[in-house]
Amino acid sequence: MISIEEARALVLAEAQPLEPEERPLSELLGSVLAEDIRAPHDVPPFDNSAMDGFAVRAEDTMAAGPGRPVEVRLVDTIPAGSHSDIRLEPGTAAKIMTGAPMPPGADAVVQVEHTEESAAGVRLFEHVQPGLHVRLAGEDVARGAPVLFAGDLLGPAELGVLASLGFPRARVYRRPRVAIISTGSELVEVDQPLGPGQIRNSNSYTLEALCRQAGALPERLGIAEDDYDTTRRMLERGLGYDVLVTSGGVSVGEFDFVKEVQDSLGVQRRLWQVAMKPGKPLAFGVRESCLVFGVPGNPVAAMVSFELFVRPALLRLMGHRRVLRATHRAILEDDIANGHGRVYVVRVRAWREGLRWHASSTGPQGSGMLKSMVKADGLIFVPTDRALSAGDEVDLLLLREEMADA
Ligand code: AMP
Ligand code: MG
Repeated sequence: MISIEEARALVLAEAQPLEPEERPLSELLGSVLAEDIRAPHDVPPFDNSAMDGFAVRAEDTMAAGPGRPVEVRLVDTIPAGSHSDIRLEPGTAAKIMTGAPMPPGADAVVQVEHTEESAAGVRLFEHVQPGLHVRLAGEDVARGAPVLFAGDLLGPAELGVLASLGFPRARVYRRPRVAIISTGSELVEVDQPLGPGQIRNSNSYTLEALCRQAGALPERLGIAEDDYDTTRRMLERGLGYDVLVTSGGVSVGEFDFVKEVQDSLGVQRRLWQVAMKPGKPLAFGVRESCLVFGVPGNPVAAMVSFELFVRPALLRLMGHRRVLRATHRAILEDDIANGHGRVYVVRVRAWREGLRWHASSTGPQGSGMLKSMVKADGLIFVPTDRALSAGDEVDLLLLREEMADA
């Protein structure tokens, strides 16, 4: 048996970013850029007003102040989206709206709040310095400057920058297509009644959701009964994807065929058995470009194995530089003994008090008890053969982002 860290290293050693592809902007949230982006033009593209008011020559306002206005003649009105060719001569101004281009000759804007329109034009009650309330061309992004880089994760702001620079598409690493197969003759689909000895297939849905949460493109291929031929036929189909995840059938039971079938299909095994509970059996290998994960069938073990091994691999395939979730040291709220001879991965509720994280078990922790994952904010790792007490420190991996009450 190898450690969680060793197993993850073996998995990640096989995961290279997939080939880049060009996708439209609205499909790029959560993708990773595969090209550097330079600005083809300035942002903003022209000098413009940051306020509703009057574009002026700053020197004309030198004598102005509260109670002693300077009166200038109005020569134009410039709404956003238009422009003015009329050059401001001394003693003139143009009415201007936020975002409208500055007219030639103007070098500052007096806010409308400091003005009063008059029969002759407008009275200015403020003395402004050159540049006041003017947004200069290129002050956000200068033409030719690098703005985004290969490896950058695309969030809302990055997509906005691409849009403002006129990129309707960008090159990103392709998202992996993931085949999901549940093995087990006891399994029936969620919409079927339960016969004697049968349970419903939940792993296909947890694994599908976990894939989607990671940004991958999962497809449920269904249930494989525990016989060699069915298992082989279904796994063969799954090998046509970028990643194949099977659940169950990977232990040492008489009807566990997954490893044998993997071997017969030419999957090169890289690891089997990780020193953790739940999730000891994990048959990971590769065939050509397909990463093949046989995770255990117990619903919690399947999810924990996915979190620790499949998810980082998917993120790496998608070009993410950082593929691990954040971990913190946390104060344990319960007594938890680990006599299992492997790292005990306990599902916990987690919260922060000031700078200190706290973790408390979600309840009974059987590897088939999916309820232990419900409301789990994170996982803690209790070292082998240690009995931890409330108040001890433990490593906490956060499964969800921290939120606050309104
Ligand atoms: P296995 O790893 O195939 O020995 O399965 C271990 C346990 O997980 C058994 O109790 C199975 O019934 C259960 N199990 C296996 N696959 C699934 C599944 N897809 N959904 C829910 N439970 C499962
Ligand atoms: Mg089974």
